[in-house]
Amino acid sequence: MNSPWVRSWSLGSRLFFSHLVVMIVGVLSLVIISRISSPRFFILHLERLENEGLDLIDVRADLVQGFENAWRRSTLLSVLVGATAAGGLSYWVSIRIVQRLTEMEQITQKFAAGELNARLPKSNIPEINRLGASFNSMAASLEGVEARRRELIGDMTHELRTPLTVVRGYLEELADGEIEPSPEIYQQLAKETKRLERLVNDLQELSKAEAGYLPINIQSVNLRPLLESIVNRLADQLLEDGPVLQLEFPPQIPPVLTDIDRTEQVLVNLVGNAMRYTVSGSITIRVWTQADKLWIAVIDTGIGIAGEDLPHVFERFWRSDKSRARHYGGTGIGLTISRRLVELQGGQIEVESELGKGSIFRFSLPLA
Ligand code: ADP
Repeated sequence: MNSPWVRSWSLGSRLFFSHLVVMIVGVLSLVIISRISSPRFFILHLERLENEGLDLIDVRADLVQGFENAWRRSTLLSVLVGATAAGGLSYWVSIRIVQRLTEMEQITQKFAAGELNARLPKSNIPEINRLGASFNSMAASLEGVEARRRELIGDMTHELRTPLTVVRGYLEELADGEIEPSPEIYQQLAKETKRLERLVNDLQELSKAEAGYLPINIQSVNLRPLLESIVNRLADQLLEDGPVLQLEFPPQIPPVLTDIDRTEQVLVNLVGNAMRYTVSGSITIRVWTQADKLWIAVIDTGIGIAGEDLPHVFERFWRSDKSRARHYGGTGIGLTISRRLVELQGGQIEVESELGKGSIFRFSLPLA
């Protein structure tokens, strides 16, 4: 069956041929067995009749001959009818299976050519149906990835355009002698370039987080040393008359299951935001447990976020009009990454805020 000649056969021919072989073996064994056994049984029957007293001596040869003729004819007829019916049926089954597969092949080719909404229809052959369902779910997830990729590139180019335009504008004006070079202009150029750098770094992190490529190394961790070191480090950056940064960490807090570096990234982003949007008052990191979770909240007394904006804060590139207008220098990506990082660690992140009063960003982590 493995000769190069057979290897080049299509699935339809293979199915048809295998049915044919099964049919030939069946017919041959039927014919051979009945050819051997039927006349014997007939003769045994005649002998029994003769033993019972029936005189068949003159007609016996005729009867046996007649039986054999009848057997031959009916066998020939049944082989002809049976072979035609079985051959036809086998052809129909092969065609049906091959048709479904050819259809699948055409649809997958369409998909590969960029028609990402192409889906396989249902089939009443369970195996083909299952294959189709797996293909369709793979196609749906690839379509989603492609849609997110396009959206990301669209958003990204939009965000990159503004600082690039500013930098180009300054450079052209400087080149044309329309403005005099001054430290302020160079500072402005450096600021825009820094913004570009931040955007590119954040985008790299975001694309990794969205594609699920961020390695997460979960361990049982006591968070107190991490929180204390973040508070010490960031408190140094606060102005004298700015907000105070404080930690409320009750004793007896159990360890959590987390990737310490990722949790630090989330905390630095939340506390960094709180510092950026809080002029005075306080920024408090509060820790508590609830059921099988540990919650960490960053509570500030800053500018707050309007109620209608709250559902958008975790969307990428979203920034409130206030933070755009005052050029806080944010990229609108930090919270999107934070949410993804918290979710990758099996937690959730929430926000509560009131405009002009302050915000509470809290996230949970599973207890060890
Ligand atoms: P970035 O701060 O880099 O702009 P984020 O994703 O961290 O990006 O935040 C998105 C937006 O959410 C910010 O631009 C700001 O408008 C708003 N925001 C985040 N944190 C706070 C906060 N503590 N107080 C007020 N607004 C905030």
